Amino acid sequence: MQLGLEGMRVLVTAGASGIGLEIVRAFHAEGAAIVACDIDQAALDTRAGELPEITWLKADVADRGAVEQLFDKALGHLGGLDVLVNNAGIAGPTGRVEEIAPEAWDETLQVNITGQFNCARLAVPHLRQSANPSIVNLSSAAGRLGFPMRSPYAASKWAVVGFTKSLSMELGPDGIRVNALLPGSIDGPRIRSVFENKAKAKGVSVEDVTETALSATSLGRLVPPGHIASMAVYLASSLGSTVSGQAISVCGDVQMLV
Ligand code: NAD
Repeated sequence: MQLGLEGMRVLVTAGASGIGLEIVRAFHAEGAAIVACDIDQAALDTRAGELPEITWLKADVADRGAVEQLFDKALGHLGGLDVLVNNAGIAGPTGRVEEIAPEAWDETLQVNITGQFNCARLAVPHLRQSANPSIVNLSSAAGRLGFPMRSPYAASKWAVVGFTKSLSMELGPDGIRVNALLPGSIDGPRIRSVFENKAKAKGVSVEDVTETALSATSLGRLVPPGHIASMAVYLASSLGSTVSGQAISVCGDVQMLV
């Protein structure tokens, strides 16, 4: 398939591990020019050794000043921008609403939704100059379902969908497409720690939590992170050039988050 991503200029937030790293690798394989940021300096150093063709920069998406510096440097490296992947997101606290520390609520929204605003507002003027511009915002299955004991995360990920659909209408006339990606439980260390926290909070075993989570999924399996990256690449590609304003689930058909 001709994806038309050769030479495309892509910025991926939180690209040094997890889904973000898979997204970086997938765009790189298609010949895109990439800048990736992360808050984890050690992970950035490791990735710089593995993938020296990519520009790795330290930035916390929740820090507006740091994001401004990131965009200055990224635009300097790339000379323009075709694709923004707003991938950075944190799991946030697990617990009943009355137990959640207000600071943990604030931090979750600050990273997961305000971080996307911090990047989108700076990306749009540059995207307007691109031939096939788009934004991919990482939401979650928790952006279309309720998620007991994870209310800050679910609230932030529903907010991502509202932000996405609003921007797609606002920016569509300029040819800028905006879509949200809603992963289900991704295979990897992050979901294992989520399951462990939930097991502790509920006073049950990790095996019980895992079995319960998968039983609410039609396909009964975790999602390989590469499947999210493939969808991000498709959405940014010429094949996806009439897809905008969508909240696309790649989740094994999750029916309920427990
Ligand atoms: P992760 O926890 O593995 O973290 C990936 C990277 O994000 C890390 O390198 C970390 O240092 C970086 N990071 C964290 N906070 C940051 C910040 N403020 N600024 C910049 N970088 C930061 O994440 P993941 O599981 O790969 O998830 C990526 C996205 O996908 C998130 O938005 C997440 O909410 C969403 N998601 C993940 C899953 C899952 O099961 N993993 C499911 C649904 C949605």
